[in-house]
Amino acid sequence: MKVLYITGWCRSGSTVLGNVLAEVPGVVHVGELRFLWLNGVLGSGSNARCGCGLNHRECPVWSRVLEAVRPDGRTLDQHAADVVAWQEAHRTRHTWRTLRNAPPPGHTPPGRTPRDGWPATLAATYEAIAEVCGAHTVVDSSKYASDAALLSGLPGIEASYVHLIRDPRAVAWSWMQPKEYTGRRSALNSTLHWTGFNLAAEAVGRTHRADALHLRYEDLVRSPAGAVADILKLMGYSGPNPVAADGTVELGGNHTVTGNPNRFGRGRTLIREDRRWHTDLPRPQRAATTLLALPLLRRYGYETKV
Ligand SMILES: [Zn+2]
Repeated sequence: MKVLYITGWCRSGSTVLGNVLAEVPGVVHVGELRFLWLNGVLGSGSNARCGCGLNHRECPVWSRVLEAVRPDGRTLDQHAADVVAWQEAHRTRHTWRTLRNAPPPGHTPPGRTPRDGWPATLAATYEAIAEVCGAHTVVDSSKYASDAALLSGLPGIEASYVHLIRDPRAVAWSWMQPKEYTGRRSALNSTLHWTGFNLAAEAVGRTHRADALHLRYEDLVRSPAGAVADILKLMGYSGPNPVAADGTVELGGNHTVTGNPNRFGRGRTLIREDRRWHTDLPRPQRAATTLLALPLLRRYGYETKV
């Protein structure tokens, strides 16, 4: 089975990109899978519903997947607490260590040990998703480069990687807005995370150069059909592109874990840029974000004028 993993930092358009890819036959977008246990089972945060509108424990997909990966003798809550504890050892800052220590192809699969069962749980979860959904490809938009770094070591998984990048000033503005489903971040906090997550995503892309591409949000919304065509090629899919020439896509239902509320949208949808930050981001935050992100702004081809 194949896994397409989206790396980068939040508020970069990964939810809509994943949902567009899910319109390809045999492809399922699961949203931010990493948060299935913390948000979906343990109910942390206010963004704990599946994209189908149900709680994850009642959703026809996640209720089966959660049961499939729950070890005998552990309740769903106990297992979720185990998984969240295991994930602590696989944070973004651990990406480089994981890439260095990645086992060679044909290695022995990782065991489900009490100390760190996350790699085996992740592999088992992808497998259960593919079976329950009848999918050959799972799109995971969790954006944790540390998890992307694990994929080449998971048995039976052929991985590819999309590093999605958005102008950090747009991202900072988005984080500054009050949202019902998640907390706010300052421009400084968002940009520090933007830098760290993007550097980690670059490390994954460098290690798996032949199976990775990077894509700017601004290029995705400018030419959605072209950007999606590049990703479909990376996935080894040669069928029709779900994005029409006019930049619209017909969105069906999905079973995404957390992510932007636009995941609840259905029907014919135009992929377009949210440009509000150009006028609404205050000058001090704009200047601070620009200076902090300067080296990567240049690398990604963004405006560097303060
Ligand atoms: Zn669902």
